[in-house]
Amino acid sequence: MDILLQKAKEFHGEICAGIVLGTRMTIIGMRELGMNPLEKSRNLIVYVEIDRCIADAIQAITGCSLGHRTLKYRPYGKFAATYVNLKTGSAVRVTVVEKKRTEKTGKEAMKDAAKILLETPEVDLFRVKRVNLTIPDGEMPGMPKYRARCIKCGEMIVDNKEILRDGAIFCGNCAGVPYYTEPE
Ligand SMILES: [Zn+2]
Ligand SMILES: [Zn+2]
Repeated sequence: MDILLQKAKEFHGEICAGIVLGTRMTIIGMRELGMNPLEKSRNLIVYVEIDRCIADAIQAITGCSLGHRTLKYRPYGKFAATYVNLKTGSAVRVTVVEKKRTEKTGKEAMKDAAKILLETPEVDLFRVKRVNLTIPDGEMPGMPKYRARCIKCGEMIVDNKEILRDGAIFCGNCAGVPYYTEPE
């Protein structure tokens, strides 16, 4: 636990509540899959449902990352992650059980919160459930197998991320879900 927390701290900058939670979640998830969190495994894929401190702990400990396509982000705003063993096909979802916690702020309170989360028994803090999931071909690590080109902007799209509208190929931005606009 100490070694893993230290790893997460180096990556994230501090041991906050989220780092403690993410570290414990990862220990639980990997244990349930018969994997050792002290060893990097190429067979592990993690779906994380939040882009906060927890995600950094998961990345630092497992080595899974967006760039390796082994860390998947699902923007659901939930303190949850699903650990998948590619070799066995088994998967387990770990969630943080919601509890009323003291809402103090400041550095000391943050340390206290992290300490409490570190000492709370596993059963009181986490829910662990086996789940079934199939990772689509286009989301697997490795070289891109699928390529397409958007008919509107002409940019290339890999990994099956194109959107079909009336038989035409669009990218996510041009299909009407842009996250930016260009100046006129
Ligand atoms: Zn943090
Ligand atoms: Zn486009």
